Amino acid sequence: MENRKKPQQKVSIQREELVSFLNKTLSVHQTKDVSCNGLQVQGASTITSVALAVDACMEAYEKSVRSGSQILLTHHGIIWNGLTSITGSAYKHLKYLIGNNLNLYAAHLPLDMHPDVGNNAVLSKTLNLQNIIPFGLYKGVEIGFQGTLPKPLTIEEITLALGEYVEKDAVTLPFGPRQIERVAIVSGGASDELSEAITKGADLYITGEPSHKNYHEAREAQINVLYCGHYHSEKPGIQALGNLVREQWGIETVFIDIPTTV
Ligand SMILES: [Zn+2]
Repeated sequence: MENRKKPQQKVSIQREELVSFLNKTLSVHQTKDVSCNGLQVQGASTITSVALAVDACMEAYEKSVRSGSQILLTHHGIIWNGLTSITGSAYKHLKYLIGNNLNLYAAHLPLDMHPDVGNNAVLSKTLNLQNIIPFGLYKGVEIGFQGTLPKPLTIEEITLALGEYVEKDAVTLPFGPRQIERVAIVSGGASDELSEAITKGADLYITGEPSHKNYHEAREAQINVLYCGHYHSEKPGIQALGNLVREQWGIETVFIDIPTTV
């Protein structure tokens, strides 16, 4: 599925201008991460359409090229802990990207933790959380948020309120209070942060991917857990980034939705 947002007239910007805006907005060079954040693969220098996807994958590249985009912005890129060889999947990806002059830009932790367009910020805003404070210590930085609902809600009402950011048949561990007030959120694969949510007195912990070891931990601590799905919990940030880029230049953006079942 593609969601194309077109401006009145064709706008073009230089790649370097877009990249430096993204680097600065997302503080990519100030954030320690296993992902190489920023421009991962260089392509065309003039941009008239910006594609966005959660994951760097062949399907997203092909759809970006088909939609006429010259850059793909993703949350999960292809360079993690550096490239050790350009063989197999790395070769295939690079060959396609370079062959099609498609730029690939990735923002991992910077897009989880950003206070406006980050995954956790958008999820918090969607629930209208109040008194928000940083939460979820990961590699020395807090990448999530904790806050209070304006009025207590059940886990079903919260799931409904999160809408497209929760996959259907999402896994829940409903072991906490029926009426939920205090909510802690870390998008993606952050099941280990459940213990911090328990320590900090949350009624509900929201993350992406389920973990078997959370079951008894949550049950014994009497806390609720909602697993949105890794993909669904990390869709809001890249979509918000697309909106920001469009607002900044009035350039066309194309969100490429390729949900995973994880
Ligand atoms: Zn992720």
